[in-house]
Amino acid sequence: MEGKNPVILSSDPKVKETFRKMIADTTDAIIGSYDDNTAYSGKDVYELRKSLEDLGFLPDEGLGFDRTLETVRKEIMPHLLRTWSTMYMPHLHAPALTETIASELIIGTFNDSMDSWDQGPAATEIEEDMIHGLVKLFGFGSGADGTFTSGGTQSNMAAIIAARDWYCNRKHGCDVKKEGLPPFYGKMRLYTSEVSHFSMEKSCHVMGLGYNSVRKLPVDSKCKVDIKKFEEMVQQDIKDELLPFCAVATIGTTDYGSIDDVKEMRRICDKYGMFLHADASYGSGLVVSGKYRDRMGDLSVCDSVTVDFHKMFLLPISCSVILFKDKTVQECFELHADYLNREEDEEEGYINLVDKSLQTTRRFDALKVFMAFQTRGKKGFASIIDTAVENAGYFYSRLIKDPAFIAPVEPEISSVVFAVIDGDEANKNIRKRLMDEGTVIGQTSKDGKVMLKFTLLNPALTHDHIDKIIARIKELRP
Ligand SMILES: *Cc1c(COP(=O)(O)O)cnc(C)c1O
Repeated sequence: MEGKNPVILSSDPKVKETFRKMIADTTDAIIGSYDDNTAYSGKDVYELRKSLEDLGFLPDEGLGFDRTLETVRKEIMPHLLRTWSTMYMPHLHAPALTETIASELIIGTFNDSMDSWDQGPAATEIEEDMIHGLVKLFGFGSGADGTFTSGGTQSNMAAIIAARDWYCNRKHGCDVKKEGLPPFYGKMRLYTSEVSHFSMEKSCHVMGLGYNSVRKLPVDSKCKVDIKKFEEMVQQDIKDELLPFCAVATIGTTDYGSIDDVKEMRRICDKYGMFLHADASYGSGLVVSGKYRDRMGDLSVCDSVTVDFHKMFLLPISCSVILFKDKTVQECFELHADYLNREEDEEEGYINLVDKSLQTTRRFDALKVFMAFQTRGKKGFASIIDTAVENAGYFYSRLIKDPAFIAPVEPEISSVVFAVIDGDEANKNIRKRLMDEGTVIGQTSKDGKVMLKFTLLNPALTHDHIDKIIARIKELRP
């Protein structure tokens, strides 16, 4: 059976025709796998686990593509999460723009790799062009650079590694790259809000600094870093002979979408000689907004910025970028290997992107950004982002008018956190009941109380959808 399917692509017309049919059949299977607007089939977790375990692992004889696709179509696809559903709103987890699904086919088919020019000639050049465009879009000058990464977590880690090496090198003359952590490493401190992403702690652990190096800054009533307390904490730490080396501003916190004041954080970082990173994993989408770009603040004052394309920009996972204002700090990732990125290549005009990246073999994710930007243009993206932000504003305005709800933080981007006034159990039950009906929403907590959360990214969501869900939640109150 498996002999029918070509092992790899070639110029043979029969092989090309078989490949074309495989892709066409796959597309048909995808389109045929759902016929309503729900996000999930509702299949019970134990039943699903059992039915999938029964599919087997590695058969002795291959079953061929047609039978395999048939199994995937019948048994797996119907129970995948349908991210494009307007009933799916819990996480910063986006539906993919259709043109970028086509990009994924191109990326997977050619399988170019971003580590060296000879493994991805046009891919390397397009990634460079996208990075150059992005540094400008975020207001950085010609000394800036960056790289694509697997996500916000990895982008944040790259930034904090660069910050650590910059601080140890420039302030203390210690070369972490060669000699490892300096003797004072246990005193280094990073400052970020108490509602920032856990990737800061994870990064500090992996980098040998430990969770205790992360100082959690208190936030104000809008869930933004309290600037006064930030400065007081830095001053106290200096008095205690600790070494503040980095601050991370969050541009869109995961729960509330709140945005820290980068201008004020810059002032403090300059005063005490610290690196300032902006984690704009969520809020970076505002950069292409028509109406709300100002809410992001001027990120060009930061030393580095994390941009996640698989959130507000609606690109398929994974797609993220880390940008550095001063490209020389990125040299911490450079290491020459004779078989891959010879120093002489640079003199001959070749670019080996492994020089800038933590990863070696790496996907051509930049193509997705290229195709989405070309397809939609600035106006198309502005409309996508503005719709999400407007929907959140509308949602919030409905909630605060209604005595059945509390909504503690006015949304700046597209997340709405709220609760019915009937207590924790009522809120938990509402979320479960909605899930049984095919509507998936989020749950978090604020000041020890259970809260419900809507993360609105889907541009197909309308005021009518929002009115209906609010009405349904009210019906589900005890
Ligand atoms: C999602 C998120 C991250 C992590 O990004 P991944 O792409 O999931 O690795 C980091 N910071 C914030 C604020 C986020 O919302």
